[in-house]
Amino acid sequence: MSKKLLVVEDSKPIARVIEQIARALNYEVTIATSLKEVETILQGNTEFFAATIDYALPDAMDGEAIPCVLSHKIPSVVLTGKMDEQTRQKILDQPVIDYIPKENSQAFLYLKRILHWQLINSSNGVLVVDDSLSARNHVVELLKRRNFNVYVAENGQEALDILEKQKDIKLVITDLEMPVMDGITLSNEIRKKYTRDQLSIVGISGASNGMHSARFIKNGADDFLRKPFCPEEFYCRITQNIENLSNIEQIQKAANTDYLTELPNRRAFFTNAEQRIPKYIENNVPYCLGMLDIDYFKKVNDTFGHEVGDHVLKVLALYMRKHLGSGLLARMGGEEFCVLMPGVDEDQLYNKLDDFRRDISVSQVNHDGQHITFTVSIGVVFNSKESLAKQMGEADTALYAAKENGRNQISISGSDE
Ligand code: GH3
Ligand code: MG
Ligand code: MG
Ligand code: MG
Repeated sequence: MSKKLLVVEDSKPIARVIEQIARALNYEVTIATSLKEVETILQGNTEFFAATIDYALPDAMDGEAIPCVLSHKIPSVVLTGKMDEQTRQKILDQPVIDYIPKENSQAFLYLKRILHWQLINSSNGVLVVDDSLSARNHVVELLKRRNFNVYVAENGQEALDILEKQKDIKLVITDLEMPVMDGITLSNEIRKKYTRDQLSIVGISGASNGMHSARFIKNGADDFLRKPFCPEEFYCRITQNIENLSNIEQIQKAANTDYLTELPNRRAFFTNAEQRIPKYIENNVPYCLGMLDIDYFKKVNDTFGHEVGDHVLKVLALYMRKHLGSGLLARMGGEEFCVLMPGVDEDQLYNKLDDFRRDISVSQVNHDGQHITFTVSIGVVFNSKESLAKQMGEADTALYAAKENGRNQISISGSDE
């Protein structure tokens, strides 16, 4: 569902630019060109997710629209053509998300970033660690305006306990001096478990000694804020750290995903399987490693074209997710796929693979008026205690046997049929 954005702006060209930016982010936009219009709109029952407010309007030259919108608890970004210190202070004294000087096109790129993050921050957990209630509340209030999912802890030990439970936490903002466990020790402890690609730490300290920032960073923190800080600096640091993490996440995802089927790729399969197999063996969990390959796939390409071949690969991935989704799935390359799947026993695992195989063999892929049928052959190893590489080799040999035997079937490694 798209969120509603109130755009308060008397300049039509600027309103149009903001509207375009917001629409691209899937916001539904309502424009008000005067304070009077704002008041009328807010009398209605409309729930606004956020607002952008022009500082000066024809009937409200001195920012009067800001308290009006904020009184309806709408998170708001102020855009202003006035750059003087007094105006800035007046805006920042109110609980706005941010203010943007309308100096150049950078302003609108910045607005776009804010509106984007406002939509997704609720899935980003931030843990605030401080023994002072007032300091904690101040930071929590700033974070809530930005829609973050906020957690609090009174000391380092409590923070570690919360981190253990709340898996959505991406950022820890920690005070330095606290009873039980201080911020430096906490940073150190966090880094034993979480890399900088997984979790960011921002240290905060009121001490005027510049040494603390270096100590924080040397002990695993990514950034540092000195108290007292202004909301602008706070938001810049926080956004930068969250953006860094998100960029790394996207790069990692791309490096581990097959572009065509969006299944994990070969590299992701090896990394994950290496971790899972020892656990299955240790806990006596029945499991199988299956390797599957489309039969006569070259003929599909030759008959219908490469594009149809690509479509068949995507359809196969859908069938894998449907039948074998409880396992680790991957496209190993070409028309070869792998599954590592835990289950109840051999029979149940075999039946899952066979239901999958049969479902494919009786299905028809329709593409541009053409009807394509295809089958797969599967080689499978059950409950092997061998290395992953060895198991893959065995599954591959079994797959070859399935092909030799006439295709569209499963061959079990070690059985001589
Ligand atoms: P077999 O039953 O023995 O497996 O026969 P096959 O034709 O499936 O096997 P072969 O290894 O001879 O051919 C595989 C074909 O898969 C050749 C290649 O063009 C095609 N292929 C590999 N990757 C892709 C892809 O990403 N898209 C498409 N459309 N075709 C691909
Ligand atoms: Mg303290
Ligand atoms: Mg093939
Ligand atoms: Mg092949």
